[in-house]
Amino acid sequence: MLLPDSFVFTQQNLQDYKDCAYRFYLKEILKLDWPAVESEPIREQEVLMLLGTRFHLLCQQYFSGIPADVLSAQITQPELIEWWQNFLKLDLHPAPGNFSVEKLNSIPFAGYRLAAKIDLLLKSDGKLTLYDWKTSQHQPKRQTLLSRMQSKVYPYVISALSANQNILPESVEMVYWYPAFPKSPVSFAYSSAQKEADQTEIELLINEIASKEKEAFRKTDNLKACNFCRFRSLCDRGKEAGTSDMADEQVDSDDAFNFDFDAI
Ligand code: SF4
Repeated sequence: MLLPDSFVFTQQNLQDYKDCAYRFYLKEILKLDWPAVESEPIREQEVLMLLGTRFHLLCQQYFSGIPADVLSAQITQPELIEWWQNFLKLDLHPAPGNFSVEKLNSIPFAGYRLAAKIDLLLKSDGKLTLYDWKTSQHQPKRQTLLSRMQSKVYPYVISALSANQNILPESVEMVYWYPAFPKSPVSFAYSSAQKEADQTEIELLINEIASKEKEAFRKTDNLKACNFCRFRSLCDRGKEAGTSDMADEQVDSDDAFNFDFDAI
C-alpha cells in the first residue's frame, strides 16, 4: 500500500495513471517536481500553458465582479485578446448564488477522496452546467474528449454532491468551451446509467492503483504519451516537448505537461 489514506484522486492523476502508470508513480508517490522547463528553452506548449493559466485567471476575476473593460485593458498578448473577446461574447452573467468559479468539489470515494475543480458551475432552473475552459490550439475529437477521465470524474462528483438537492444526473450537463474555437463547444448530457458506469470504472481504477506495488508502476509503451510529459528527460524518452501539430488528445494546453489544475 503506497498511498496514504488522505490521498486525493483527481481526473488528472487518474488520467496520468491511464496514460502511464510510471508517471503517476513519479508525480503522486515520489512527488517529483517539474524538470522539463528548466532543462531546455520554453517551447510552444509551455507558452500555451502560461496563456491558458492567464485565461483561467481572467475568467475567475470576471466572475468575481471585476468589470470586463478593466480586465480587457490588462491584456497585451494578441492570442489572449482574441480568446478574451470570444469569452465576453458568451455574455455570461449568472445571478449571485447561482454559480461557483474554480471551486474544488470533493467526495469520499473508494476509501479515498475524489475531487473536481470546476472552472464554472452554473445553476439554472434545477439544472447544473459545468463549464471547462480548454485553451488548446487543437480540438480533439468528441469521442476522445468523452473518453477522458475528466468527462467521467467531473459530472460524477457534481451529480453525487447534488443528489441530496434532488437533482438527477439527467439535469447535469458538461461543456468543454474552447476560446480559440468559440463556435464549436463540445457538450454532453449526463445520465443515471452513465453515472453508474463511471462509478464502476473509477472505483476499479482506484482499487487497482491502491493495490499496486512500486515495481508494478511501469513506463508506458505508447511513446506518444511521452511527448507531453514533464518526465521525458528523466525517462530518456526525448528532451524536447511535442508541438501542437502532433495532433491527438495529448495536445491540450490545460493538460500539457500534465499540470494538475485540480490540485491548485
Ligand atoms: S516520459 Fe513517458 S514513460 Fe516517462 S513518465 Fe512520462 S509518459 Fe511515462
